[in-house]
Amino acid sequence: MLTSIAGQSVIVTGGSKGIGKGIARVFARQGAKVVIAARGMDAAEATAHEIRVAGGTAIAHETDVSDWGSVQGLVTKTLQSFGKIDVLCANAGAFPQKKIVDLSPDDWDQVMHSNLKSTFLCVKACIPAFEAAGSGRVVVTSSITGPVTGYPGWSHYGATKAGQLGFMRTAAMELARYKTTINAVLPGNIITEGLQDLGQSYLDGMAKAIPLKRLGNVEDIGYAALFLASKEASYITGQTIVVDGGQTLPESAEAIDSI
Ligand code: NAP
Repeated sequence: MLTSIAGQSVIVTGGSKGIGKGIARVFARQGAKVVIAARGMDAAEATAHEIRVAGGTAIAHETDVSDWGSVQGLVTKTLQSFGKIDVLCANAGAFPQKKIVDLSPDDWDQVMHSNLKSTFLCVKACIPAFEAAGSGRVVVTSSITGPVTGYPGWSHYGATKAGQLGFMRTAAMELARYKTTINAVLPGNIITEGLQDLGQSYLDGMAKAIPLKRLGNVEDIGYAALFLASKEASYITGQTIVVDGGQTLPESAEAIDSI
């Protein structure tokens, strides 16, 4: 049993849908006060409402994580609403698929901004709150794609997800003076709105390639994030947890077929 996270103030970027929504629900069920940050306010408000109906505490705040002013506004709103920031779940991201031959410099920049620059901006904006509190937790949603694996069409995406880990390792050293840890969860294929957009044949093919023979649920990532934010994880920083049903283990297609 982990020490309670009840009463903690938790920002979840991209908390309106998919993995972020799963993280927000898991933290809210443990009694945390959650800020759902996303651009689309209909989905963000709907998620916050769903959490409140279930007995939790949540607000939605319109945020573009690739924009410094917008991220600063998120921090201000969180401090006004809950008085502190205990945990930042830097989760928002996009995974448009395009092969390098078709990828434009603008496509590249867009994904860099939404996935990588955003991680830096969100961490930077929370530092004063962590310093004031004398503690803090950052959980980054990276991916197996980039840090561990490759997939055609995701060179830019994989670069951002590997880049998040490069950022994290130095950030872990710099944040240590504020008694703040930063770690990353590397999801495999998790059923979300974003993943479903890739089509049924992609989902079916992926399920076959996973030793546990199923795609992940958003709460599988939520529980990993909850652990990294818990008191029990206070001596873990700059590290990664792969949550992929064993997807990155098989050495060959035959290895999977032989299970
Ligand atoms: P999703 O279902 O498409 O949800 C993405 C969330 O991020 C939405 O809430 C979206 O809201 C928000 N978002 C995107 N760009 C944003 C921006 N610039 N500013 C603020 N919010 C933004 O995606 P998902 O599958 O849950 O993925 C979430 C994270 O997990 C991503 O970082 C992704 O790389 C990572 N991941 C996912 C998988 C998977 O299998 N699903 C696997 C590995 C890693 P708005 O569009 O309204 O802003």
